[in-house]
Amino acid sequence: MFTLTQFPLPYAYDGLMPYMSRETMELHHGKHVATYIKNLNELIQNTPYEQVSLYEIIKTSAKDTQNPNAQKIFNNAAQVFNHDFFFNGMCRDCGGKIPDEIANAFGGDDKFREQFKSAATSLFGSGYTWLVRDGDALKIINMANADTPIAHNMVPILNLDVWEHAYYVDYQNRRAEFVDNYLDHLVNWDVVAENLKN
Ligand code: MN
Repeated sequence: MFTLTQFPLPYAYDGLMPYMSRETMELHHGKHVATYIKNLNELIQNTPYEQVSLYEIIKTSAKDTQNPNAQKIFNNAAQVFNHDFFFNGMCRDCGGKIPDEIANAFGGDDKFREQFKSAATSLFGSGYTWLVRDGDALKIINMANADTPIAHNMVPILNLDVWEHAYYVDYQNRRAEFVDNYLDHLVNWDVVAENLKN
């Protein structure tokens, strides 16, 4: 039987301070993500979803009209993927720089930051701002709730979780400050560069 377990982080819960607190990480990774994993394992029990990878669960449940729990399965599976991607794409002041391919696609480092920040601060409600490869093009897009590029045949390159649980403990309503700190201090551009090769 396929049972998903919590994925490890490449840093400690206090490893992103002061830009993301230990308390936020304990709640976000230790409680929210743990609940998505628990829900998913329960929902897929004794279904064909038990036999396939997380990636296949997401792709299949997005189009599943048979299983009455398909939407719940999709939401929980996509949230597991989205958070794994988000947490693995960060480190604190780990250096690196915006890859040339991204800077070139958006007219420079600053233009990329401006456009990403504009998208992330304007996303209404819960969701993620993503940098994706869609066909040959790099695009910054907002997706609501648990939605994820892999359900739309796009390649994820970078994502920022702007659900309130991602920043409210540390920034309250100041989402713009959270986005700035993310871009200036938390993005692991080496991981982003690796994702560009996919
Ligand atoms: Mn989250």
